[in-house]
Amino acid sequence: MELLNIKELDLTKKKVFIRCDFNVPMDEFGNISDDRRIRSALATINYCLDQDCAVILASHFGRPKGEVDEKYSLAPIARRLHHLLKREVFIAQDVVGDDAVNRTKNLKCCEVLLLENLRFEAGETKNDEIFAQNLASMADIYINDAFGVSHRAHASVEGITHFFAQDKKAAGFLLQKEIQFFGKLINEPVRPFAAIVGGSKVSGKLEALINLLPKVDKIFIGGGMAFTFLKQMGYDIGASLVEDDLLDDAQHVMDEAKKLGVKFYLPIDVVAAEKFSADSVIKITTAQEIPDGWMGLDIGPATVRLYREGLNDVQTVLWNGPMGVYEMDKFARGSTKIANFVADSYATTVVGGGDTADLVQRIGLDNEMSFISTGGGASLELLEGKVLPGVAPLIRG
Ligand code: AMP
Repeated sequence: MELLNIKELDLTKKKVFIRCDFNVPMDEFGNISDDRRIRSALATINYCLDQDCAVILASHFGRPKGEVDEKYSLAPIARRLHHLLKREVFIAQDVVGDDAVNRTKNLKCCEVLLLENLRFEAGETKNDEIFAQNLASMADIYINDAFGVSHRAHASVEGITHFFAQDKKAAGFLLQKEIQFFGKLINEPVRPFAAIVGGSKVSGKLEALINLLPKVDKIFIGGGMAFTFLKQMGYDIGASLVEDDLLDDAQHVMDEAKKLGVKFYLPIDVVAAEKFSADSVIKITTAQEIPDGWMGLDIGPATVRLYREGLNDVQTVLWNGPMGVYEMDKFARGSTKIANFVADSYATTVVGGGDTADLVQRIGLDNEMSFISTGGGASLELLEGKVLPGVAPLIRG
């Protein structure tokens, strides 16, 4: 799959609309706690500025539900961009209103304007044609560099592409890098290739699991999703998270793994808690002996040792989903230990965005991984074998 390349566009002195993903986490004081997504967009922005472009940046932030909500203003993002780009970044008061229209009309070469939060407009998530056209009318060129939302058919991601000819739109450097990396990972991984899959539920990752089975050599399951598999195997899982309607699917995954010769690992012990709380009493039990009413909230030490053993000879690791409720220190040890092991290994290590990226960042191992995706949901859909709606219009025809 070859994408329309930003380097082949005639950008000189043009107005360029760049869809970015500046949906960054904020702490309780309103500070940006991780600006990786903003930094990841700089290559494309700087490239356009070097071609003397006037740059219009657009992103969503949070879920403001189609109306203006000051809490979700992009003003803090404009300030961070100003520091990172070392140049002035103007911010429009609205998205496609008078202020945005006037400012984009008067924007000069090498100036940067950030539109307000795209989701202040209901048309964004509805992929509204008029809204998409209004956005498109601001610029000569469209660039998508927002991998994290490219699995959504939203106006600034999908609808807008219909208003630009083939030689007036392209994928930015970040989008290209993500698509190429996952393509290579899935189609030509260095073996043995292991997937570590965790997180809350089987349902969110079922398709990805099924699609991964023919490609990987080993799968290590952790997190809440493990209990649906364990229950299907006849274990008493107490009050642990379970999806009873997916027991058959869990069996199907295990049968397929067996048929394909994929080594399928499940936790052999857990950190069990009496209640879902940071101050709960905890107990380490084998998977066979989870007490009635208790819930498994992390993988146990024996599982960590087993998984390390299994991961020892692996050359490529894809990790998506934490091994436990890592947001609470008591249930973060399994994920932390696996993260340290993966980071220390000489394998190519790929972290599939979302919670896993957050986890790796929290423990300061983000620079030790080969690649951390900026898109959790988007990378999962790539693993499911889907062509993302924001990427499809940018495939060279
Ligand atoms: P997901 O969005 O499906 O990747 O799930 C991530 C979430 O799964 C995190 O917020 C974790 O707290 C949660 N999680 C991980 N392990 C468990 C568990 N054993 N029980 C309940 N939730 C879990």
